[in-house]
Amino acid sequence: MKIIELEHPGAGVRGALALDAPDLGPAFGGIRVASYRSAESCRADAKRLAAAMTRKVLIHDIPGSGGKAAIMADAIRDRHAAMTYIGEVVESLKGSFFTGPDTGFTADDTRSLTRVTKFVTTEDVTDATARGVLQAIRAACDHAGVDITRARVNVQGVGAVGLDLTRRLMASGARVTVADVVASRVAEARSTGADVAGTDDILTEPCDVLCPCALGGIIDATVVAALQCRIIAGAANNILAEEPLADGLADRDIVFVPDFVCNGGGVIRGAWVHLRGTPGTDEEIDAIYKRTRNLLSGAEAGGVTPLAHTLEVIERKRAR
Ligand code: NAD
Repeated sequence: MKIIELEHPGAGVRGALALDAPDLGPAFGGIRVASYRSAESCRADAKRLAAAMTRKVLIHDIPGSGGKAAIMADAIRDRHAAMTYIGEVVESLKGSFFTGPDTGFTADDTRSLTRVTKFVTTEDVTDATARGVLQAIRAACDHAGVDITRARVNVQGVGAVGLDLTRRLMASGARVTVADVVASRVAEARSTGADVAGTDDILTEPCDVLCPCALGGIIDATVVAALQCRIIAGAANNILAEEPLADGLADRDIVFVPDFVCNGGGVIRGAWVHLRGTPGTDEEIDAIYKRTRNLLSGAEAGGVTPLAHTLEVIERKRAR
């Protein structure tokens, strides 16, 4: 893991850029601007997210590695100057880090970056992410014997990905229930024909597929005990509060598709722009269906959880 400290007192930049496994090839990952308690927690988040990106890149057969920049939102004094500085750092890496938006990063930030570096994606990859999550859900349904045209899917969070996914699920015939903390987002999802549940209930109301598309870490031990679903497959990163909870889900016969398998559509779309000059195609994103089916079958055959099996597969790819 290589860490580059991001420091620009004039612009108010405090943060870190983590390159998880540069020996594997160019790093792919976004720039996160968030409130952190301390510089240490900001650096730790960059490292954790970069490592998660390496998993995502490897499992989706992208020749490269994971990276992530995390910036302390509250320290920023001049946003354009801050993004210009970060863009200059990205440019100085000469393509060994290819970046794009993450939480808290705006369209204006992208414009500031593109003035100083070519190593930033201007593609909107949200639709690619939603497309890939749908493929993972379809695969998990086929694996578990759930008919998606009759399935009840609970979507937590109808932001950019969740709303797009809701539309896709409804077009597939699924009955969708949504929840969001922002009323206007709920209203937009309701206008597509989705049902609405309270934000406290969406995780534990009975459904075939639970689809977390809001925050990471939302499945903890209490939620595992209360779940009434057969499958968990969503866009949010690091859905499990702790990875050993994958065992608890398996004990309850709940199929958990690791989030870095489900939500790889965006990085597939964006990374290939950098690697070959054209975005990842719909066919390359739709390969998430077959990949998910293979991982779920492999886990079943090996008597391990889908998460454990996926991590084994990633380790083999890393060693090649
Ligand atoms: P977004 O910010 O557009 O949407 C998130 C939604 O979740 C918002 O509408 C927000 O109001 C809602 N929300 C927050 N807390 C909630 C709660 N407690 N209950 C219900 N709703 C809540 O983000 P997005 O781009 O749609 O991404 C969704 C998730 O997927 C994030 O975790 C993101 O990191 C992950 N992800 C996104 C992409 C992408 O291409 N955008 C790619 C990979 C992973």
